[in-house]
Amino acid sequence: MLSESLRNIHLIDSHCHLADAKFSADLDVVIVRAGLAGVDRMICIADSITESEKCLKIAEKYEQIFCTIGVHPHCANEWKSENGTWVEDTMRQTPKAVAIGEIGLDYHYMHSPKEIQQNAFREQLQIAKNLQKPTVVHCREAITDIRSIIAEVQPPRIVIHCCTEKWEDVEPLVAAGYFLSFTGIATFPRSEEVRRTIRMCPIEQLMIETDSPYLAPVPYRGKRNEPAYVVEVAKCVAAEKGIALEEVDRITTENTVRFFGLPHS
Ligand SMILES: [Zn+2]
Ligand SMILES: [Zn+2]
Repeated sequence: MLSESLRNIHLIDSHCHLADAKFSADLDVVIVRAGLAGVDRMICIADSITESEKCLKIAEKYEQIFCTIGVHPHCANEWKSENGTWVEDTMRQTPKAVAIGEIGLDYHYMHSPKEIQQNAFREQLQIAKNLQKPTVVHCREAITDIRSIIAEVQPPRIVIHCCTEKWEDVEPLVAAGYFLSFTGIATFPRSEEVRRTIRMCPIEQLMIETDSPYLAPVPYRGKRNEPAYVVEVAKCVAAEKGIALEEVDRITTENTVRFFGLPHS
């Protein structure tokens, strides 16, 4: 049942993969459940050109869903410079496509060689700069190269999503005005370093997300994750910052609206 304190919250899940096959059977129900939990809006994130097309369809279907388009470092092998024209044209023509993403570098899984990942990241970042649009950045074991490519291209708005970095490693990005976004990883017992980064990050530059269907927060850990559970991430941020859940709700929603240029509701 919905508790009294959750009735007046209007959270945004700033990063969820609603085009993932794990949602194909019950997406309508997942979205209703999000609304009942106080999660009014969602940013549906793409990881390939094919998935970008699916995300666009979802964003067109549901008023409360916006999407990104872009090629994830896992799929960097797929990226061709010709894709850039499609990305630019689609961003220009589709108001529900609000950002480029998720793009970045992943040196943990290394599905593509470093140079290929860096090229795909750099070219897509440049498109975001040309369009003056925000970018959702994925970073795993690659923060030094992420920082140097961002410094080289200087895109207007960046969020480091699913931030698990030490504060000292992301502090220069935050000082440059960029954002950090946190997932359910922050609720895991061993994530003290992530919680320290939450405490250090100015709340005006902080967003929350599920990265669903993966990374379900405590107490749902191990289950399929879904946008409704972003409430648990908000509670964790409230506890770390020592402020009320309603404040986290108000501020992170305002940050997300501003970052993605969403309509005020
Ligand atoms: Zn990611
Ligand atoms: Zn993601």
